[in-house]
Amino acid sequence: MSKPRFSKLVVASHNGGKIKEIGDLLLPFCLEVVAARDLGLIEPAETEKTFVGNAILKARAAAEVSGLPAIADDSGLEVSSLKGKPGIFSARWAGPKKDFYLAMKKINNKLRAADRRAQRRVSRSARFVCALAIVWPTGKTESFVGTVDGDLCWPPRGERGFGYDPIFLPKKNSLTFGELEPELKHAISHRADAFQKLTNSLFR
Ligand code: IMP
Repeated sequence: MSKPRFSKLVVASHNGGKIKEIGDLLLPFCLEVVAARDLGLIEPAETEKTFVGNAILKARAAAEVSGLPAIADDSGLEVSSLKGKPGIFSARWAGPKKDFYLAMKKINNKLRAADRRAQRRVSRSARFVCALAIVWPTGKTESFVGTVDGDLCWPPRGERGFGYDPIFLPKKNSLTFGELEPELKHAISHRADAFQKLTNSLFR
């Protein structure tokens, strides 16, 4: 594994789970990883229209203020029969109480309404998307997109994972992301795919 061209990196997130996950993925590269939250940086509003746009916006804000390279991610679920919704609004569909049962039910209700309009069962195919961006203090920017394809089921199954995991059946699997062993999910997830692309590019 070759050495990175920098030794310290900011994870541009205020979400403890993400900071840990990104920190863990970067462990093999012997970098000093600091969280934007711990530097007292303000989290910018996600105002862009794409996952990549929002990831860049978050990483850029942290790089500009800290003077360090910064990494950020943005992710969500795209449902093909709902024209890619909830997409970048995946977190917001759960409302202020972060009620993901409500968000999953909303998707299922919209799919059933689409069935009625089409007078047939419409496709349940969906994919998780993860965009990762790294921005250097010079402004140099790189982004990487990872995906995992699957189908949605109803009702939700499994207590593991988070967010939309209990309704997502990855291709060639009979278990949802909510039922799969976390190690198995992490091996095939959209986040793993994006990280593989990022580390291949930065540390090869
Ligand atoms: P973000 O913090 O703006 O990236 O929000 C991502 C949202 O997408 C999360 O709140 C989840 O609702 C959803 N999401 C992203 N990745 C996953 C995953 O691996 N499993 C389940 N839901 C996910």
